[in-house]
Amino acid sequence: MVKKIKNICVFCSASDFLEEKYYEDAKELGFLIGQNGYNIVYGGSTLGMMWACASEVKANGGKVYGVMPQKLVEMGCRTDNCDEFYLAEGMRDRKAKMDEISDAVIVMAGGFGTLEEFAEMFVQKQLGYIKKPIVVLNTNGYYDKLLEFFNQIVNEKFANEFARKNIIYVAKTPQEAVDYINNYIEPERVPSKHEIYSR
Ligand code: AMP
Repeated sequence: MVKKIKNICVFCSASDFLEEKYYEDAKELGFLIGQNGYNIVYGGSTLGMMWACASEVKANGGKVYGVMPQKLVEMGCRTDNCDEFYLAEGMRDRKAKMDEISDAVIVMAGGFGTLEEFAEMFVQKQLGYIKKPIVVLNTNGYYDKLLEFFNQIVNEKFANEFARKNIIYVAKTPQEAVDYINNYIEPERVPSKHEIYSR
């Protein structure tokens, strides 16, 4: 089934101390999100790759939806940069809100915050709670070792082949990530018990 995708959730680093190539990809992704008529759902801050991406969405006609937990607001994170801002109590309901208002997910390079967000979305799709596309944008091969580890997870039967083949799409460039979302066909059905649990 082709589902109209409007809001793309982007998970990525809040760090301001990375090599330039990460910000360049984040900006390019933001440019493409805006130019292709999408909006961005993201963590809401003006930091790092997050804002590099979101500000380009804004500059290219897309809307910026930020979702931030109370604690980060109290720490002084800016929120007036967003077209719509959602305040969450904590990290858990923040992720739930980001999931609720987005139709696709792109995971860019990031630290533990990004990894946590990615893992939750991965398992949501593995268990059939969501059917939306999840793209890993592997800038500079940042996730090569994690993807290798995913192979180990499957090879040692901690998950089955279905998880490796059907849950994420790995893109090398922002263009490839957006092309995948542009052409995404939602699976007709959710994974069967056999596909989730047989090894
Ligand atoms: P990290 O990968 O550890 O830099 O964390 C980035 C991810 O966690 C983002 O996708 C955000 O959703 C969330 N996050 C972490 N730090 C912040 C922050 N200062 N402001 C807003 N969101 C943040």
